[in-house]
Amino acid sequence: MKYQYVRDIFLDFFQKKKHKIIPSFPIYLRDDPTLFFINAGMNPFKDYFLGYKKPEFQRIVNIQRCLRVSGKHNDLENVGYDNYHHTMFEMLGNWSFGDYSRKETIEWAWELLIQKYNIPKKNIYISIFIGDEKDGLSMDKETYQYWKSLTSKNNILFFGKKENFWEMGSTGPCGPCSEIHIDFRNEEEKNRLPGKYLINKGHPKMIEIWNLVFIEFFRKLDGSLDKLSTKHVDAGMGLERLCMVLQGKLSSYDTDIFFPIIRDIKDSLGKIYKKEFYQDVSIRIIADHLRALVVSIYDGQLPSNTGSGYVIRRILRRSIIYATRFLYKKKPFLYQIVESLVREMRIFFPELENKKEYIKHVIEEEETSFFRVIEKGYERFHHLIIKTKEKNKKIIDGKSIFQLYDTYGFPIKLSRILAKKNDFSIDEKSFQKELLKQKEKSKKDNNTLIKSDWIKIHNNQFKYENENFIGYDFLEYEIMILKYRKVENQSVKKRKDFYYELVFSKTPFYPEGGGQLGDNGFIKNKIDKIFIENTIKENYVILHIVRKLPLNIYSFFQAIVNKNRRIEIEKNHTATHLLHFALKKVFGEHIQQKGSSIREDYLRFDFSHYKKITTEELNKIEKLVQELIFSNLLLEEKRSFPLKEAIKKGCLGIFHEKYKEKVRVITFGDSSELCLGTHVKCTGLIKVFEILSESSISYGIRRIKAITSKKAIQYLKSIHFQYKSLKKILKYPESPIKSFLSLKIENKKLKQKIEKSYLQKIKILKKEFLLKAIQLPFITYICDISNENRTLKINLVKKIVLDLRNEVSNLFMVISFIQDNKIMIFISISDSVIKNKNIHAHKIIHKMADYIHGKYWGKSFFSMAIGLNIDGLSLVLKETKEYLKFLKNED
Ligand code: ATP
Ligand code: MG
Repeated sequence: MKYQYVRDIFLDFFQKKKHKIIPSFPIYLRDDPTLFFINAGMNPFKDYFLGYKKPEFQRIVNIQRCLRVSGKHNDLENVGYDNYHHTMFEMLGNWSFGDYSRKETIEWAWELLIQKYNIPKKNIYISIFIGDEKDGLSMDKETYQYWKSLTSKNNILFFGKKENFWEMGSTGPCGPCSEIHIDFRNEEEKNRLPGKYLINKGHPKMIEIWNLVFIEFFRKLDGSLDKLSTKHVDAGMGLERLCMVLQGKLSSYDTDIFFPIIRDIKDSLGKIYKKEFYQDVSIRIIADHLRALVVSIYDGQLPSNTGSGYVIRRILRRSIIYATRFLYKKKPFLYQIVESLVREMRIFFPELENKKEYIKHVIEEEETSFFRVIEKGYERFHHLIIKTKEKNKKIIDGKSIFQLYDTYGFPIKLSRILAKKNDFSIDEKSFQKELLKQKEKSKKDNNTLIKSDWIKIHNNQFKYENENFIGYDFLEYEIMILKYRKVENQSVKKRKDFYYELVFSKTPFYPEGGGQLGDNGFIKNKIDKIFIENTIKENYVILHIVRKLPLNIYSFFQAIVNKNRRIEIEKNHTATHLLHFALKKVFGEHIQQKGSSIREDYLRFDFSHYKKITTEELNKIEKLVQELIFSNLLLEEKRSFPLKEAIKKGCLGIFHEKYKEKVRVITFGDSSELCLGTHVKCTGLIKVFEILSESSISYGIRRIKAITSKKAIQYLKSIHFQYKSLKKILKYPESPIKSFLSLKIENKKLKQKIEKSYLQKIKILKKEFLLKAIQLPFITYICDISNENRTLKINLVKKIVLDLRNEVSNLFMVISFIQDNKIMIFISISDSVIKNKNIHAHKIIHKMADYIHGKYWGKSFFSMAIGLNIDGLSLVLKETKEYLKFLKNED
């Protein structure tokens, strides 16, 4: 059964069971700071489970792309070595938010596997939660009852918390689960040993494919469990593993999801698959990692040095390390395989084709820079070997290896391989010591936030907390505190740093989001006045940051937003929409928002565009925005607009809201955008729009920074003031441009004059040196050791000495002079002399630098030294004479 059908059957099956089909969320979660990437289908639904947000549908079915390479769920080290763990995989999920529970989940799972996918009953094994004393949980009897009515008792097993109690992380929604395992063995193997002995033993032919999780609890920070008010179901099955079962393969890399990619990789590398273990592992790693990379870049994440970007960078580098080590690749190649991935994946990622060139380019750039790191690393490593040899040692010091890894990014794995290859080893102890030191340091530098459990003050009058925001209509409101918690910053650097997060019954404070900064302000009553430093959103709960708690936390408060600041932010937010609109108008449809920062003092807008923007284009954009401001367009706000109509209307910002039925639409004239931010009532209030800068922030992404209103007027006024002051000192006050051009011409003339005298000086000096030449058989010997004071630029002397090396054949030249009380020595030797006489400039200079107590540097053909000991000059002269003798005698 082809994998397209496997997907279709799944979606169709649950759609018929009244589930709403929704598309996958992007793999990279913008709104959840606790996760780098989606690692399970349930992440985007966290707030439904917690009762923070009302689900639009109670039954959902989807196919969610997940990435398991960091945190609690990290399968990276298994990938390539076993046949069924991937970094990126697709999770077939069916969801019940407070709707059906165990009975339907189990019966439908069984029906789908047996009747639709035709998996033989006897190959299916079930695991059930046995209970946990510490958590006070008993055996999941209800689940057992349902399974017992469907399959043989022999195929049902019980396991503990580790296997059958699903948790997202150390805190969060969780619950007992029941897993479905498939026996892949042949009849003979089955007869030899009953399948139940192989469950959860890591056997390659007994694989878990589906996990039915009954989300019923919330794990608190103190380790205890809170019962959730509503029960939910999160059932997730890996598409890749299901395809293995349905296509009768023992490896997911042999299914039609992966095999075409594997085939293209092995062909493009000229290798045979399934011949040599590590080659096979490497090919599988490349296929897997590249798929993860393509999807992550497609979803908007770029490789970088921090956070999610660093995760992507590590995946890419891991595949290159395997390719260099076992497939002997020395040049970028991954980007070429993007083509075949896109060919295989575009059916489900329709926009992939359009983004193909962009993804290819990002991967190629990243690969090229990593290959450069490897090349330089090889050189540096070689140098380390020489140094170790010089000390008569066989163990390379761990500190240097650490430096290679930490400063130059050279992977430790490669250092180990190279050491072994050269018959050396690495002092692992000192390496680990350095590594530990660095970890400690970064722990100190990092801000680890420890959030305590919530303390309830009042009950919420609404069922869902996302209904509490009233900041579109009010900047002041009477509120109660529903709950609060303490947040401690564990950074060692900052002493005793903590704050509180408060949740209000209703709030006029806008929480940071959609690029717009969070509001600040205060809450007050007769006794207290507490400053709200910032407002943020954790998923859908609005958190108000304060440094101290009010004395009477149970009373009512007046919540007051800092109005002046909010107004300035609103001007910048509306201006951002107008800018987005103008960019599309000037450049076309490929302009896509890639990020924004909307503050009280400026706005920043990042967008996709492949070329540098000219001054004329910038002027045009600026003018267009200004015209929209002058037109004084009125705000049209639709809070609950059908998504379908918004798409028809061509609203901007649709991409991330695909799964919603109703959206908020902000319109000013022809500009319509999905947006949750706050805006001015009419564009005229913005007054002035001024672009400050335009730049590139990464490949294909440009950034515009702009100011509006008072800021812009102040800025323009200050420029005008400078202009007026400038005019006073210019040659032609009425035309600064004419003045500037005349200065430019004058400057050019002066430069030409200087250049001329420079060349003349070179000529004279060259002549001077040549006059001192002694012609030996086969060698021209020039020596000018003087303690004369000269004012020559080092680069000028260097040029002369190197020029002479080209102009005079078989040259041996040593010159010195004094400048600013320092002795300068220069040596230049022709290649022929180096070769025939085996003399090297850097070896001679080494000695001479000692005589003058100085520093030296250079190569065989050119070296120089600078020192302070003028008395040493006589020894330098003596040494050059020795060379003259040597050169004479030898010939
Ligand atoms: P395993 O123990 O095999 O790593 P898991 O218990 O971590 O699996 P769950 O978190 O229960 O898996 O996820 C549900 C399903 O998602 C699994 O039954 C499996 O089909 C699929 N799955 C999980 N991790 C991976 C992975 N790394 N690659 C491919 N599929 C996976
Ligand atoms: Mg796992």
